[in-house]
Amino acid sequence: MDIQMLIGSRFEAGTETEEHILNPKTGETVLNLPEASLGQIDAAVDAAEKAFTSWSQTTPGQRSAYLLKIADAIERDAEGFAALEALNCGKPINAVLNDEIPAIVDCYRFFAGAVRNLHGPVAGEYLPGHTSMIRRDPIGIVGSIAPWNYPLMMMAWKLAPAIAGGNTVVFKPSEQTPLTALKMAKLLADILPEGVVNVILGRGESVGNALINHPKISMVSITGDVATGKKVLQAAAKTVKRTHLELGGKAPVIIFDDADIDAVVAGIRTFGYYNAGQDCTAACRIYADAKVYDNFVADLTSAVSSIKFNLTDDTENEIGPLISKRQRDRVESFVTRAAEHKHMEITTGGKTSGERGFFYAPTVVAGATQDDEIVRREVFGPVVSVTRFTNPDDAVTWANDSDYGLASSVWTKDISRGMQTAARLQYGCTWINTHFMLVNEMPHGGLKQSGYGKDMSVYALEDYTAVRHVMINHG
Ligand code: NAD
Repeated sequence: MDIQMLIGSRFEAGTETEEHILNPKTGETVLNLPEASLGQIDAAVDAAEKAFTSWSQTTPGQRSAYLLKIADAIERDAEGFAALEALNCGKPINAVLNDEIPAIVDCYRFFAGAVRNLHGPVAGEYLPGHTSMIRRDPIGIVGSIAPWNYPLMMMAWKLAPAIAGGNTVVFKPSEQTPLTALKMAKLLADILPEGVVNVILGRGESVGNALINHPKISMVSITGDVATGKKVLQAAAKTVKRTHLELGGKAPVIIFDDADIDAVVAGIRTFGYYNAGQDCTAACRIYADAKVYDNFVADLTSAVSSIKFNLTDDTENEIGPLISKRQRDRVESFVTRAAEHKHMEITTGGKTSGERGFFYAPTVVAGATQDDEIVRREVFGPVVSVTRFTNPDDAVTWANDSDYGLASSVWTKDISRGMQTAARLQYGCTWINTHFMLVNEMPHGGLKQSGYGKDMSVYALEDYTAVRHVMINHG
């Protein structure tokens, strides 16, 4: 196992406080990893600064070739990466191997192509005797900070557009899930020039905080909690850094009376519970028309109670445990508080599972109303609430009545109704008759307190490059 940080071309261990890296399936410690010192963080930033001089001058074609090599190397070692991600996050091995790794490989390949095809306004003489042109240039050193729910995928979403755009990076994985990032560090050091990507370890309040406040960092890219995003903004204000924020979500799902209920049930069974609901786009906040509500709740309850988890044969598991005891306790407390209200019913789940690890049974909370905590706050676990509506306008109003604005979906057989509703929803993404499906060609990102950075797509390349105007006076 690769357990050292990457600073320039050097592999070294942190020298500060040790973090226990756990196996969420058992709760056992896999290993202890010390975090970076302030000196090591400075050294990583210095290495990125040194590398920027030449990396920022490479052609898109050259950077594209590096990205393709990274994609190929991950693909060659797909099983090794998947096993490590499964160990550190508790994910079912098949979910990582068959869903995540192909999407991660494709992310590097997408940006390898996209950076060679950037578009912009036409160069020309907008002032007589003067030619103007637009450039898209690198921003500088990007401090990238990732969460624990999809460690390797978040690393791809952050690294690929940043280095494709000619930036250099100091990357910090979540302190809970650093293992695949350390394996990537070895892979990246074998492929990229020294210092283009540096990987350092540590907790948010120490290493993360030092990174976001570092004077030489020009841009901070973070996926995490809204509270963390706000800290990044405060730190960024000191030196006017660019920020790329991907924060939480509480995705509404509107089910109209003409929806194909079997398809909705199958969809929510998958999209509400994938990755044990630890997903900022999880289909967790359902509004169902009163005409279909009872049947829907009954069918969803039965479907969700059949989700396979915590089985000895991991290839049978559909979802894993929560990432930590703390996260499971948090999820449990949300459901306990919901159950205290008479108008809500826990129709399945509502309990922890197993003697070992951090499992929580997939849960449906029926009868929730718009003001309930379970409807308003991000649970980030395998818990879906269902709310009844009689007036479709209420459903759209309630869906939009949220601090979050990341993802949403509408289920109806009437495509006009679907399109009209999509147009009214204030979310970075609206799916019609599906949920959760992502493609590297299309952007992922939010509105409101879900942040504003775009991942994937050419919009991410735009976020990670600066628009510049060059004007020539022909004398
Ligand atoms: P978190 O905010 O606690 O941590 C995310 C990262 O930020 C970690 O690497 C952490 O070490 C770091 N961090 C924490 N405090 C920091 C500070 N003061 N300064 C600098 N860095 C700091 O979030 P989490 O618990 O790891 O992840 C779950 C959250 O991420 C959820 O709220 C979820 O919705 C969100 N998320 C959003 C997206 C998206 O695309 N919008 C994707 C995945 C997860």
